[in-house]
Amino acid sequence: MTAALELNQIVGRHGQLQAIKGMTLRIDKGEVAAIIGANGAGKTTLMRMIAGLHPCAEGSIALFGSDVTAMPAHGRLKAGIALSPEGRRLFGDMTVQENLMIAAENGRRGDWNLASVCDAFSQITPLLARPAGGLSGGQRQAVAIARALIANPDVLLLDEVSLGLSPVAVDGVYQSLETLRGAMTMIVVEQDLTRAMKFASRVICMAEGVLELDGAPKNLTRAQITDAYFGIHKTADTAAGGAAHA
Ligand code: ATP
Repeated sequence: MTAALELNQIVGRHGQLQAIKGMTLRIDKGEVAAIIGANGAGKTTLMRMIAGLHPCAEGSIALFGSDVTAMPAHGRLKAGIALSPEGRRLFGDMTVQENLMIAAENGRRGDWNLASVCDAFSQITPLLARPAGGLSGGQRQAVAIARALIANPDVLLLDEVSLGLSPVAVDGVYQSLETLRGAMTMIVVEQDLTRAMKFASRVICMAEGVLELDGAPKNLTRAQITDAYFGIHKTADTAAGGAAHA
């Protein structure tokens, strides 16, 4: 398998605080990985480090084998990493179409353009002329993901996909994301464990800046995941026992 991303012992700081404490992680091309973990686990910092929006204090990040550790965010976007950030961060005074076109201009050329992102996220089409500031949470999320997509990334990073959305809006967003499976490597930060386990082929659980658990949902029990989520360390015996009783 080709590695899309290789994080090697990366450290991310906020002042004196080490938010990411030497994480090593490989994500293969085409993988759909969900990152889960409690508040403050470091998920957003990790996503921002991969996107080049937060400095990597130690360690290295490689994209398809090329070191991008020192590359700024706009360079990483051109290299093929796009982030749909927590809080969506759209330009509220600009229309949806303008938000998308700015991203298209700063991204790469490819199959994703205004027409194709509107096909994938059909709820966007009637909103194109509306100011982004007036959209509902679900609409904002769809536009934020489309904005990342229109940059034609190889690696799509989606922070807090379902946070603050109604169940119906979450369903709509995941239906659209489902159509991207196989077309690109995706890493989603998802608070909803059930959703994460259903959507992702790999679940990565973080606690306090370290990787606690990493595996295919079918090989992990709910108990293992919730323990890792809250940073409860188990012995190999009890973890195996949990798996046997799944
Ligand atoms: P959440 O689900 O709450 O967004 P998270 O898993 O995404 O949490 P981060 O936001 O990456 O976690 O935060 C990791 C740690 O870094 C936390 O202890 C947090 O308080 C701290 N932190 C995050 N952003 C900053 C900041 N701008 N300044 C100082 N500390 C920060």
